[in-house]
Amino acid sequence: MPVPKFEKIALIGIGLIGSSLARVIRREDLAQSIAISTRRPETLARARELRLGDEYHARAGDAVADADLVIVSVPVGASGQVAEAISDVLKPGAIVTDVGSTKASVIRQMAPVLPESVHFIPGHPIAGTEHSGPDAGFADLFDGRWCILTPLPATDEKALQNLTQFWERCGSKVDTMGAEHHDMVLAIVSHLPHLIAYNIVGTADDLETVTKSEVIKYSASGFRDFTRLAASDPTMWRDVCLHNRDAILEMLARFSEDLSALQRAIRWGDGEKLFDLFTRTRAIRRSIIEAGQEVDAPNFGRHAALHPQKSDVE
Ligand code: NAP
Repeated sequence: MPVPKFEKIALIGIGLIGSSLARVIRREDLAQSIAISTRRPETLARARELRLGDEYHARAGDAVADADLVIVSVPVGASGQVAEAISDVLKPGAIVTDVGSTKASVIRQMAPVLPESVHFIPGHPIAGTEHSGPDAGFADLFDGRWCILTPLPATDEKALQNLTQFWERCGSKVDTMGAEHHDMVLAIVSHLPHLIAYNIVGTADDLETVTKSEVIKYSASGFRDFTRLAASDPTMWRDVCLHNRDAILEMLARFSEDLSALQRAIRWGDGEKLFDLFTRTRAIRRSIIEAGQEVDAPNFGRHAALHPQKSDVE
């Protein structure tokens, strides 16, 4: 199949995800030119120093003019504002996509504002780290990771095919599904784990009987993995919680019920119940390793085989 090469790709937002895209687009020669826009002048200046693009614009509208692919990589709560800023200048026939961690809310914010002459195809690469900003990105972030596209009912097949091929050239495997389903799946595999991590690290921080230095000193015994998740960007995760509210609340309710059952098993000394649960969950980890989404190495493979800085925050 011919490789889609875009004449101009506009990247709106140049943090971890946007700058990883800039790097892989360059490496794979997926565009003749890359235009970058971001909210703050200092981030734009840093993107320029890092030579992430060919053009740099303070205004998103100036970056998207003539672009045939526009990728919005900002916190999900800012999607509507970005759509407003670019809608009048988009080139007819352009593909507009995003990388936000929630999909139904992004569609609600962007779809009514974007002109009918463009192909709006929301997306979400399931790849990330706990780091932010243009320095944090790297070209093989998406290698072997899934990217979920949530096309709308009227989405043009050819545009969907082009965007799919684009993500495949970035190293991803691509799936498509409905936005609501995406939000439910991500609530359990990503959003809930982050909330649990934020909560447990907060609890440890509030403890009075165990000192902070003991928490840090003995963290290797389990706590450390939670701190990595809990170090993720506060703005991004605030927006995820506010914009995937219903699915997260549903998963939290189920989680609380199951936690109460576990609490009861411990209280009543029900070792069989505990053993059964721990055996079932161990098998899940094995399937994740078999699916190639994690490696079975010390430190959960996080800084080893997959990539020197790659992890599975998303
Ligand atoms: P990031 O490194 O913090 O970068 C965020 C970018 O968005 C920056 O260019 C920032 O601009 C811009 N921005 C922030 N607030 C804005 C606002 N109110 N209006 C316009 N622009 C704004 O974030 P990221 O990790 O790349 O995340 C970007 C998107 O990808 C989010 O929607 C997130 O849900 C999604 N995502 C993240 C991960 C992950 O693991 N991090 C994985 C998959 C998807 P300035 O620096 O100029 O302010």
